[in-house]
Amino acid sequence: RDQDFVPALVVGTGYGAAATALRLGEAGIRTTMLEMGGLWDTAGADGKIFCSMLEPDHRSMWFRDRTETPLATFLWLDVINKDIEPPFAGVLDRVAHPGIDVYLGRGVGGGSLVNGGMAVVPERDYFERILPEVDADEMYGTYFPLANRELGVNHVDPEWFETTEAYRYARVSRAHAHRAGFPTTFVPSVYDFDYMQRETAGEAPRSALDCEVIYGNNYGKRSLDKTYLPAALGTGNVTIESLHRVRSFRPAGAGYAVEVEQIDELGEVRAVKEIRCRHLFLGAGSLGTTELLLRAREQGALPDLDESLGEGWGPNGNVMLGRANHVWDPTGAEQSTMPAMGIDNTADPDHPVFAEIAPIPAGLETWVSLYLAIARTPERARFAFDAATDTARLDWRAEQAAPAETAVRSLFDRINQVNGTVYRHDLFGGTRAFESSFTYHPLGGCVLGRTTDLHGRVRGYDGLYVTDGALIPGSTGVNPFVTITALAERNVARVLAEDVRGN
Ligand code: FAD
Repeated sequence: RDQDFVPALVVGTGYGAAATALRLGEAGIRTTMLEMGGLWDTAGADGKIFCSMLEPDHRSMWFRDRTETPLATFLWLDVINKDIEPPFAGVLDRVAHPGIDVYLGRGVGGGSLVNGGMAVVPERDYFERILPEVDADEMYGTYFPLANRELGVNHVDPEWFETTEAYRYARVSRAHAHRAGFPTTFVPSVYDFDYMQRETAGEAPRSALDCEVIYGNNYGKRSLDKTYLPAALGTGNVTIESLHRVRSFRPAGAGYAVEVEQIDELGEVRAVKEIRCRHLFLGAGSLGTTELLLRAREQGALPDLDESLGEGWGPNGNVMLGRANHVWDPTGAEQSTMPAMGIDNTADPDHPVFAEIAPIPAGLETWVSLYLAIARTPERARFAFDAATDTARLDWRAEQAAPAETAVRSLFDRINQVNGTVYRHDLFGGTRAFESSFTYHPLGGCVLGRTTDLHGRVRGYDGLYVTDGALIPGSTGVNPFVTITALAERNVARVLAEDVRGN
């Protein structure tokens, strides 16, 4: 058997990649997954795989000497970020683009390792507006339910929610929202709420209750390395290579030749390999997949890629903000890092916003209510390939966040007014109340039905597919990973039926 050939190669191990690899494996197709980040399965000297937000170390960030959290200061003091060394293949990356920084997970499991676990299906009318050519009956009847099942989505027990100290912060924000006339809703999660109850009862090691989230959760979270990826490996047809970074690819024979760098955890290149495949599935995320395709076009390997490549990128309207509560409204020293509630103002025709009520994992009372709001705006940017740095660069302008901030302000001005509260201006490094210079939700760059056909097949090149958040044009109105997973499930079902079987 030719060691350097595999029928299917999947780049990345995030949501789109994992769903794709599982179905390829089940169909009996030998598949290799290549992931530039590490395999997070081994405990460090402290007995834990991931470090906590209160004591970050080299495991926290992707080749940095200091952590870079979005909530950067408290009372304008630089007390949150910490020096770390050595620069290491840590789990959270922050990629700087003009006008916006993008947070990403690095490791086997992609964003699932670092995210807040909120598993939200978008409202159907908005989904139909964003991706009008996708059959919504099929998505809402088949693929969203399938994604929820495979991801292990579960719901908080409403009675426990009402009494636990861990969600006092959410109940405080709910009361403020209701007083201002805004509805709230429970948010489904991939964090195991039974486990969380046992944490709070002192019956299980703490994770959500121990300030763990953006640098990874040691327990309780059903990240992809607990769900799709072991299922894919269990088919016997899928293998995963970690610390393998795909540099480029080109057509070769009836498929593609992919150039891969194997790195070590300190970033040294240990080997450069060429792997050939018949079918190449790009699941490197919005930034990673778009960059690989742009490099292939600009360097001449795939000159016929569609002109739309790089377009349709957006930050999903992300805006973070904090409000200062009255002293009689404490939010609790012990907060679950996994949000379980959101303010749903999406029915507002002028300023539709979904605002998740976020924790402040500080381990002490702060009297702050924090939110990650998601506004629906049509602002989009475009990636272009920059040959000098060999990277894809976005042309997002900071002013493009203004419509999202306006929408979010209209919701929270009202909440402040009714409750006699104010914004916090000390949390984001400067004096601004609204932080829109970063996103957790990069979407777009290879939009479905434009750069690809309606099932993720890249136009102009057989056997080449996009499987991840790059397919979605800039906005889902809610947290995106269920949508990314469901779309990948839908697309690979078609691709298996029509393109891959029999190989
Ligand atoms: P990703 O999950 O980003 O996976 C891509 C993978 O490909 C990564 O592992 C990456 O290292 C790898 N890769 C990239 N380039 C290469 C290359 N050249 N070679 C090899 N491998 C490569 N969404 C929600 O729905 N709910 C939430 O609560 C939520 N919270 C979040 C919190 C944080 C801090 C962050 C950062 C994100 C959050 N998100 C959340 C967003 C969600 O995690 C992403 O939308 C999702 O992970 C994107 O899935 P994907 O398949 O597009 O790619």
